[in-house]
Amino acid sequence: MAIVSSSAGRAESSKTTAKNRLVDAAPLPEDTTAPREDGLRPRRLDDYIGQHELKQVLSIAVQAAIGRGDALDHVLLYGPPGLGKTTMALVLAEELGVKCRITSAPALERPRDIVGLLVNLQPRELLFIDEIHRLTRVAEELLYPAMEDRRLDLTVGKGSTARTRTLDLPPFTLVGATTRAGALSSPLRDRFGLIQRLEFYGIDDLRAIVKRATGLLGLQLNEEACLEIARRCRGTPRIANRLLRRVRDVATVRGVSTLIDAALVDEALSLHRVDGRGLDASDRRLLELLLESHGGGPVGLETLAAALGEDPATLEAVVEPFLLQLGFLQRTPRGRVVTSAGRRHLGWSEQP
Ligand code: ADP
Repeated sequence: MAIVSSSAGRAESSKTTAKNRLVDAAPLPEDTTAPREDGLRPRRLDDYIGQHELKQVLSIAVQAAIGRGDALDHVLLYGPPGLGKTTMALVLAEELGVKCRITSAPALERPRDIVGLLVNLQPRELLFIDEIHRLTRVAEELLYPAMEDRRLDLTVGKGSTARTRTLDLPPFTLVGATTRAGALSSPLRDRFGLIQRLEFYGIDDLRAIVKRATGLLGLQLNEEACLEIARRCRGTPRIANRLLRRVRDVATVRGVSTLIDAALVDEALSLHRVDGRGLDASDRRLLELLLESHGGGPVGLETLAAALGEDPATLEAVVEPFLLQLGFLQRTPRGRVVTSAGRRHLGWSEQP
């Protein structure tokens, strides 16, 4: 496992920002436009690796809905980006034998956007709304009767001539996805029959995900190479796929036509400064700054952000969560502190 020294951290410090990182779990343009990328999504529940509890719950709900000939209950999926929420919505539609219409809350700004989607739904179809915590108030209020009574209440006309027209909707399933379940209003949350959290994936599931993707991309990686990607992908399938594509680039350039081994994976990912635990330059810059300039902390978020030239909200939402999850960083009432595990990872002695 590569241990990055403090001097390496300093050397790369001026080059990276927290946006558009190889290890960012949010989708980058290449995640959707890369050739054959869409083919990496599992299509059926049996191909969907990991998330056992989620699969169990949804599999029963799907069978029950099919048995009753009714639409599946509304489903809310929450958890960090890149863990398979959109994929699960598409899998559910496939299992139910219906279409899934995909949109996201920021695309539903005007009332007519959501009305247009709802009135065009066919019986038992799925409507997937990503980032559902960002719905406007008006869109939310249109959804309440639609979700509860399959009814759309439209106001026609203005002022004293305004009247309400009610349209009946076919039975349908709303699948909402969010990274911030706490930001959802409670009336909206209460209208979902199934509320499920997606967890970061364990190493064995990640290894299986990498293995499956190598097959689909026509690559050959040995066991150690798959494990190396699994270790570095931050528990996130989207990142695993992205790292795999970078490994494929290096294999192509080197003309490797045989089995790709862990050394090649290490070469490819080191080139992108993704270390043995999946930390990249932005992560290490933050820890290095805390260690070198502040004795490991505590340091307030604003001070850190100013020193790193980042926006505090980006630092908090994009860089810190993974460091917290690994136990390399702690948030205390007095500020951020590097833990002894964090110190060790960067090659510092455990005690300040
Ligand atoms: P989210 O909607 O949670 O941000 P996505 O559903 O878009 O995440 O997943 C990102 C990518 O990760 C997908 O394109 C898919 O290839 C892969 N993926 C996600 N979950 C799984 C899984 N359980 N098994 C295999 N691959 C997965």
